[in-house]
Amino acid sequence: MTVHDAYDVVVVGGGNAALCAALSASEFGKKVLVLERAPEGESGGNSRFTAGLFRVAYAGVDDLKRPIPDLTAEEIARTDFGTYTEEQFLDDMGRVTEFRCDPDLTELLVKRSLPTVEWMRKKGIRFTAAWGRQAFNINGKFKFWGGLTVEAVGGGPGLVEGLTSAARKNGIEIWYQARAVDLILEDFSVVGVKVKKSNRTLEIRSRAVVLAAGGFQADPEWRTRYLGPGWELAKVRGTRFNTGDGIRMALEAGAAATGNWSGCHAVAWERNAPEFGDLAVGDQFQKHSYPWGIYINAEGRRFVDEGADFRNYTYAKYGRVILQQPGQFAWQIFDAKVKAQLRDEYKIKQVTKRVGNTLEELVGKLEDTNQKNALEEIQQYNRAVQADIPFNPNVKDGRCTKNLKVNKSNWANTIDTPPFEAYAVTCGITFSFGGLKINTDAQVLSTDGEPIPGLYAAGELVGGIFWFNYPGGSGLTNGAVFGKIAGSSAAKNG
Ligand SMILES: Cc1cc2nc3c(=O)[nH]c(=O)nc-3n(C[C@H](O)[C@H](O)[C@H](O)COP(=O)(O)OP(=O)(O)OC[C@H]3O[C@@H](n4cnc5c(N)ncnc54)[C@H](O)[C@@H]3O)c2cc1C
Repeated sequence: MTVHDAYDVVVVGGGNAALCAALSASEFGKKVLVLERAPEGESGGNSRFTAGLFRVAYAGVDDLKRPIPDLTAEEIARTDFGTYTEEQFLDDMGRVTEFRCDPDLTELLVKRSLPTVEWMRKKGIRFTAAWGRQAFNINGKFKFWGGLTVEAVGGGPGLVEGLTSAARKNGIEIWYQARAVDLILEDFSVVGVKVKKSNRTLEIRSRAVVLAAGGFQADPEWRTRYLGPGWELAKVRGTRFNTGDGIRMALEAGAAATGNWSGCHAVAWERNAPEFGDLAVGDQFQKHSYPWGIYINAEGRRFVDEGADFRNYTYAKYGRVILQQPGQFAWQIFDAKVKAQLRDEYKIKQVTKRVGNTLEELVGKLEDTNQKNALEEIQQYNRAVQADIPFNPNVKDGRCTKNLKVNKSNWANTIDTPPFEAYAVTCGITFSFGGLKINTDAQVLSTDGEPIPGLYAAGELVGGIFWFNYPGGSGLTNGAVFGKIAGSSAAKNG
């Protein structure tokens, strides 16, 4: 076994949390090594698959100029950015997690969101406003909705590229195809990590180790074990490399498990998508325009309130609902009235799409589905729409259905204008919610409640922050905020 002992801080993982941790540790003049399990072409974890959206609290456009200093006067003039205050971010976290989110970690997530993206900007990561995804054009002026305004230029690939080149500029070494397999302990302190590289085991000694190796969602056995029966049938939206290694190593070293171990982030995802994410398609297999239409399952029945809230606050929990349907799939159905509002992801060529000029023709094309029930269900839904309430996609408009078994609370449009379209979706898992317990210095806590000396963690593999659901764009912010904290705490140890 070869032993390396030239590093102060070893970071396990190559995504957003890991690279932020590495950059932060290097600010203290430390020698930092990043271990990335994936080959370079697939590096960057789930972070690379994202749209690069960051949830950030801001009091107005002046705050946004901190991470986006190149916002032009013309862009500002044609945009209503509104505000997304710390209180709103905290409220959103509380509400969607049913008030189970760890209060101390959540406060840090919220309060450090803006300073952290500003810090990233200073490291060379470029941000812009997410006009394309999170704003509606109302009479020539873009209005942001849902508290999600900041986006990395170039999306996830741009983010990972920016972080990687910043890491290199700062003298951080990155080893690809280097899989951490074990922590090295002396008594109860972590003093390094064992790595599998080219089928050899290397021992890397360091003063601190930061785990940022993602959740366990890419391992079907762990999914079934913790999320429950049926979860082996879900598709993985992102990287195939997040198989719980970081969590396992830490638990074996005595770390405490915490958070929503039976919960995860999972969305509506193209029914015929491959088993794992495809970087050429990125997040475009997702199908997030369901608030403007309806869902029908294999029995031809609606099963969920498509308009319960803005998409940002429902999409992460509806994947599970789809997985629970017969055959683990459903159809999203729209008519021509909302066609222009469908997101770009509906236009890719890898969609399972059916079109009909009448409802009868459309349902006749819905394979694996009770077509008679489906037709009845759509007609019954149409009759229940409260059409006197005006449709407004920018607010929860209260345009609902009445007296259905499953009502739709907002944006209930009748499905009556041809051509009609149906898109087949299944459940795509994004990341698992359960993980390691950390404190506000990102130190990993043991089952005795004390920090494990030398061990830090950030990102997806930390538990206790997200439960049941998740406000869109919080994953990258979470990785960046706690990655930065973990890096500086690890450096101070080193
Ligand atoms: C399709 C998709 C779209 C998304 N869109 C958004 C979005 O727009 N905004 C948002 O906030 N969130 C989004 N998310 C969620 C977001 O990707 C994650 O919350 C976030 O990227 C997690 O960052 P991370 O650094 O913890 O993990 P990752 O980025 O997944 O990084 C984990 C890294 O660990 C490596 N690794 C695993 N095991 C080992 C090992 N044993 N040794 C060494 N390395 C290892 C992996 O190869 C990987 O590089 C999206 C996710 C997906 C899949």
